[in-house]
Amino acid sequence: MSLVTVLMRKAIEIAGIVQGVGFRPFIYRLATENHLTGFITNTEAGVSIEVEGATPEVEAFLARLPKEVPPLAHITSIAVTDWPSNHDIDFRILPSRSGDTRRVLISPDVAICGDCLTELLNPADRRFRYPFINCTNCGPRYTIVRDIPYDRAKTSMAAFLMCPECQREYDDPRNRRFHAQPNACGICGPHVELWDNQGRPIEVADPIQKTVELLAAGEIVAIKGLGGFHLAVDAMNEASVARLRDRKRRVEKPFAIMAPSLAAIENFCRLDDISRDLLQSPAHPIVLSEKTQLEHLAPSVAPFNRYLGVFLPYTPLHHLLFAGERYSALVMTSGNISEEPIAIDNAEAVERLHALADYFLVHNRDILLRADDSVVRVAGGRARQVRRSRGYVPAPIFLSQELPPVLAVGGEMKNTICLTRGREAFLSQHIGDLENLESYKFFGSTVAGLQRILEVEPKILAYDLHPDYFSTRWALGQVGMERVGVQHHHAHIASCMAENHLDGRVMGFALDGTGYGLDGNVWGGEVLACDYRGFERLAHLQYIPMPGGTAAIVEPRRMAISYLFHHFGRELLALDIPFVRGLNRRRTETLLEVIERGVNSPLTSSTGRLFDAVAAMAGVREQINYEAQAAIELEAVMEEIPQGVGYPFAIRDEEGVWIIDSRPMFLALVRDIRAGVPIGIISRRFHSGFVDVLARTAELVRERTRLDRVCLSGGSFQNCFLSEHLQTRLERNGFQVFTHAEVPCGDGGISLGQALIAAHHTD
Ligand code: ZN
Ligand code: ZN
Ligand code: FE
Repeated sequence: MSLVTVLMRKAIEIAGIVQGVGFRPFIYRLATENHLTGFITNTEAGVSIEVEGATPEVEAFLARLPKEVPPLAHITSIAVTDWPSNHDIDFRILPSRSGDTRRVLISPDVAICGDCLTELLNPADRRFRYPFINCTNCGPRYTIVRDIPYDRAKTSMAAFLMCPECQREYDDPRNRRFHAQPNACGICGPHVELWDNQGRPIEVADPIQKTVELLAAGEIVAIKGLGGFHLAVDAMNEASVARLRDRKRRVEKPFAIMAPSLAAIENFCRLDDISRDLLQSPAHPIVLSEKTQLEHLAPSVAPFNRYLGVFLPYTPLHHLLFAGERYSALVMTSGNISEEPIAIDNAEAVERLHALADYFLVHNRDILLRADDSVVRVAGGRARQVRRSRGYVPAPIFLSQELPPVLAVGGEMKNTICLTRGREAFLSQHIGDLENLESYKFFGSTVAGLQRILEVEPKILAYDLHPDYFSTRWALGQVGMERVGVQHHHAHIASCMAENHLDGRVMGFALDGTGYGLDGNVWGGEVLACDYRGFERLAHLQYIPMPGGTAAIVEPRRMAISYLFHHFGRELLALDIPFVRGLNRRRTETLLEVIERGVNSPLTSSTGRLFDAVAAMAGVREQINYEAQAAIELEAVMEEIPQGVGYPFAIRDEEGVWIIDSRPMFLALVRDIRAGVPIGIISRRFHSGFVDVLARTAELVRERTRLDRVCLSGGSFQNCFLSEHLQTRLERNGFQVFTHAEVPCGDGGISLGQALIAAHHTD
C-alpha cells in the first residue's frame, strides 16, 4: 500500500491594482516556494490564478498571499473556489486571456525603489548613474500612458527598442524587471541633454554633472521630471531664490523644497512619524511641515508662513542631482508662470520658460499625461490630501455603491474632474485654475484622456451652478448626456460623504471662500442637512457685502471695512485702532458709498472673507498675493493660551434659518486691539470663538433634525486649528465626525461630490 498525497486545487480571482506592479512574479514566487503547480494570467478584471498541491501548502499560499502583496498592488476583492485536480507539472505565467483589459487599473507613478537606487549608485552595475533606471516596483506609469492596455507599445517608451540584455530581464519571471514596461538602460533607453535658454544643446560629457555645477553656482535650471518640468535653484542661495521669485511673478507664496534625506529635511522642519512615512511612501508627495531653523534656508523660500512644503528625491535623476553634496536642498517649484499648468514638452518648456530659467535639463522620454507634485499634510493624526496628483492618480476612490457612468467637471479654482465606473470614482490630477487658456486646454485633454484610458462613456454630466465658471460653460455646450447642475457646498459635503462611505442624511459644515448660492449670493459659511438627493440650508454666516466683488478677495481691507460698516455704521471712522487710523479717508468714503448703494457689492456668507476681515483689522495683512494668504497668516501668528477665552458670536433665528452673527465678536475684537493685546492672542481668541459658535450651531441643528453625523468640508478646513478643534469639540458633544483624507477638502474635491449627487438625481 502506498501513501497518496491528497492534492487540493483552488481557483482564485483577484481584482484591483494587480497589473504592472509585479503581481504575477510575486505569485509565481509564492507558488513555487510552496511547491504548487498551476498558472496565473491577467484578465479584464485583474488576475486569475489556479494552484494545486498538498493541502497544507495550498493553505499556506492562501494565507500568505494577501499579507505579502507587492507594495504597489491594491486588492479590492479575492474570490477562492474549489477546483478539480488538473495534475499540471509546473507553475506558469500564461499570456493574457482575451484582449479585453477594460476593468484593469493603471498604477500611479512610483518613486524609485531601494533596489534600483542601490544599482544607480553602484559603479559595478550596468545602470550606474543611468537616470531612467526602473523596475516592476518603481518608475513612471500614468504619465507615460497613451492608451490601454498598459503595454510598452501604448506608452511613450514605445519609441525605444529594448537591447538584448533588457529584453532578457523583461522576459524572465524571476527577474525584478519582468514585464516592467518602461525597462531601459543607457544603451537602449532615453537620455538627457543640457540646453541653454534658447533651446540650443550644450556639448558636455555629463549633462547631469554639469547641471549640478550650474545649480551650485546659483543658476536657475528647468529640469524635466516625471509629470512635468521643475524650476530648480539652490535653496540656500538668497539672491538666486529671490531672482526666481521675481521672474516667476510669485511674490510670497512658499516654494517647495527637495532635500536628499529625512535628516536633511529635519535641518529646517519638524517631522512626525506620519510625515516621515508619507515622505518615503511610493508617491513621494510634498508634505507640508512646520518650519524650525530658518538659517538653513534662504529667507525668500517661504516668508510669513508657518509651513513649508518638503519632499524627497523621487526619480533617479533627482538622486543624481544630490549625489555630489554640492548644496543641501533645492527649491523645486512647478515649471510654469503663476497659475498656468506645468510644462511637459521640451520645445514648449523652452518657449514658455526661457525667461524664467537659465538652462534646461531635458530628456527624450515624453510625458503624455501631465501631473503636478501632490501636496499632503498631516492633521488630527492622519494624512490629508491638499493637491492630489502625481503618485495617487489614477488610483480610484472606492465607493460603497455602484453608480451609473458620470462625468463631473468640478469648479473653477483648483479644478479636478471625476469619472465614475461601477464602484470606483476616478479623480483626475490637479488641473488648476481654469481662468487661463492653458489650463482650459489641459482641462479638455484631461476629460478626453481619462475617458480613453478608463473606457467610460458617461451618461450623466455634473457641473457647478455658477453660470460663469469655464467648467460650467463647457458642460452646457455638451450634447448627448443628461446634465445636472450641483450646488457648490452640497458637492463639498457629498464628497466627504462619498469618501467616508456614508449614505442617508448628514449634517454638513461647508466652510470655504466662494461658492454660487441658490439665491445668487456668494455662499461659504454653510451648515446643511443633506443626502445625495438634496439639501436644506439650516444655518449660515450672516450676509455682508463684498465691495468691488472679486477686488474684495485680493484686498482683505475691503472686507474689514465692510464688516465694520455693518456693525458700527459710519462711526467706524471714529474707532481708535491702527487699522482705521491707517485708512485713506477719501478712498474709504468712496467704498462706503459703493456698499450703501449696493454697486458691485454681492452679499456673502463666506468663511474666507470673515477670516480676511479679522486678519486685516488685526494688522496681519491688508492685501494678498496668493489665495487665502491672509487666513493662512492669521493662523500662523496664533499663540497658545489657556482655554475658554474665545470671542463671542451670536446665533439668531431668521425665519427658521440660524444666522451666525459676528457683531459681538467684532466689538470684542476692537476692544482687544485698542487695549494693545498681542496679535497672537487675538488670533487665538478669534479661532476659539469661531469653533465655539460652530459647535453651538451643531447642537441647535441636532435638536431640530436629530442628525448626529457631521461632515466637515470646504477649503477653510485646511486651517488645522479649525479642523482639529471643531472635530474634538463635536466628538466630545456626542457627534460622529467625518473628515477628508484621500480627497482634498478644498475645491479639488468637489467633482467627486458632484458625481455622487448627479448619479442620484431624479427629475
Ligand atoms: Zn525599482
Ligand atoms: Zn537596454
Ligand atoms: Fe469650495
